[in-house]
Amino acid sequence: MLDSTAMDRVTLDPVCWDALRQQAHRMLDDTLDHLQHRRELPVWQPMPSAVRASFRSAIPVDPTPLEQVHAAFNRLIKPYSAANTHPGFMGWVQGGGSAVGMLAEMLAGGLNANVGGRDQAALEVEKEVVDWMRQLFQFPVTASGLFLTGSSIANFIALLIARNTALRMQPRQEGLWASGAQLTAYASQAVHRCVPQALDMCGVGSRWLRLIAVDAEHHICIPSLQQAIETDLARGHQPFCVIGSAGTVDVGAIDNLLALREMADRFGMWFHVDGACGALGMLSTVIAPKLRGIEAADSIAFDFHKWGQVPYDAGFLLVRDGTRQAASFENPTDYLSRDPRGMSAASPWPCDFGPDLSRGFRALKTWMTFKVHGSKHLGQIMAHTCRLASYLAESVRANDQLELLADAGLNIVCFRFRDSDLQGANLDRLNQDIVAAVQTSGITAPSSTRIRGVFAIRAAICNHRTTTADVDRLIEQVLHHAHRISAHYRESRAA
Ligand SMILES: *Cc1c(COP(=O)(O)O)cnc(C)c1O
Repeated sequence: MLDSTAMDRVTLDPVCWDALRQQAHRMLDDTLDHLQHRRELPVWQPMPSAVRASFRSAIPVDPTPLEQVHAAFNRLIKPYSAANTHPGFMGWVQGGGSAVGMLAEMLAGGLNANVGGRDQAALEVEKEVVDWMRQLFQFPVTASGLFLTGSSIANFIALLIARNTALRMQPRQEGLWASGAQLTAYASQAVHRCVPQALDMCGVGSRWLRLIAVDAEHHICIPSLQQAIETDLARGHQPFCVIGSAGTVDVGAIDNLLALREMADRFGMWFHVDGACGALGMLSTVIAPKLRGIEAADSIAFDFHKWGQVPYDAGFLLVRDGTRQAASFENPTDYLSRDPRGMSAASPWPCDFGPDLSRGFRALKTWMTFKVHGSKHLGQIMAHTCRLASYLAESVRANDQLELLADAGLNIVCFRFRDSDLQGANLDRLNQDIVAAVQTSGITAPSSTRIRGVFAIRAAICNHRTTTADVDRLIEQVLHHAHRISAHYRESRAA
């Protein structure tokens, strides 16, 4: 006789749910302890080579008890995670996440929702967030939106829609070359690297992104933009898109978005905004006026996982004319056909607006963050990080050993240590050494960039946990390591 009990014993569900429940509670408690005491731990620490080596092994064929694997996580992974939950972290542009966001991730994991489509509440949650964003940016009811991994992909999808719109959707079946047109796009020299990459990926070619000079405030120079467009037209090219930055990655500068809208209208172009860093500043009454004109964009890419404090990943694309987005991705097939009855209802589905069919429930952690904390509080956090950045810029100005290189009035400040004995590449090298030493200190962590060719220490303050004391510690650490390293330089020169 068939032993069906033995035969069915392949499931991943536990034999003893009570034991799993206890372990699960320990894991949750551990995670909450980690967040509660994050400040007391190093911002970042280098991973010892023995730990790194522990990640090189064969595929685990046989099972290991969950508590053992969790212990391995605590020992090998948690201490060497990226630093962005720590209040002293000011590197790159990264959000701090939150306990509520973490819990939402847990709930989403329990549902294991595939939010590509089908009649399920997860779609309604995503549609509600799309509608909130539509309201926030004053887009029409016909707008569409979609959660994506991040702004790199959201910018790519936006430029693909712009390309398809310019060529009347012809590239979808015929390919780009069928039109015979050479498309050209425009953005400032300060545009994020994902934008030329997006043009590369959508077949236009990154060379045809014209990088326009910036003015003293790091904004795209409008007369130079117009001249570049006219030159391209005279050469028989087809200008199709202008990309504005709402918060450049280097310094947090916001282009003159209204002027870009006008330029796009004058030359019949799509107007896209890369708002990865700054667009959600619309939630703050203090920051929103700086974003004037964003409401006139054809599309906006932004990240909830940066300033919005939603855990990674949660990128987003908003498109003014939803029919354009749908026309770029509609792709009917039998196995995804719709029916107003049963589970195939609730059309259109997210998979009709982008290339992903299987997708996670990114909307839940965003929805819960907005519901629990409220948009007002989120906006206040953004304004707070801008105040901290002004405070940092003031502290730099007040110290004649430091030089302010950029403060665009948002949440990013660039500066460097001055040394009267050093210039050019040597001064760059000193500041590069300072950044590495400060990061390794485990106390605070800036990153770096170049401003008008010189190496800059860059502090991007995005985390809701960061305080003025953390900013003070950054200055202290920079000066401490600067003095130590420049003394070392002098000794080796004297030797
Ligand atoms: C972070 C960032 C991006 C890329 O976004 P991801 O979410 O990291 O993919 C694009 N543009 C700007 C201005 C950014 O700050």
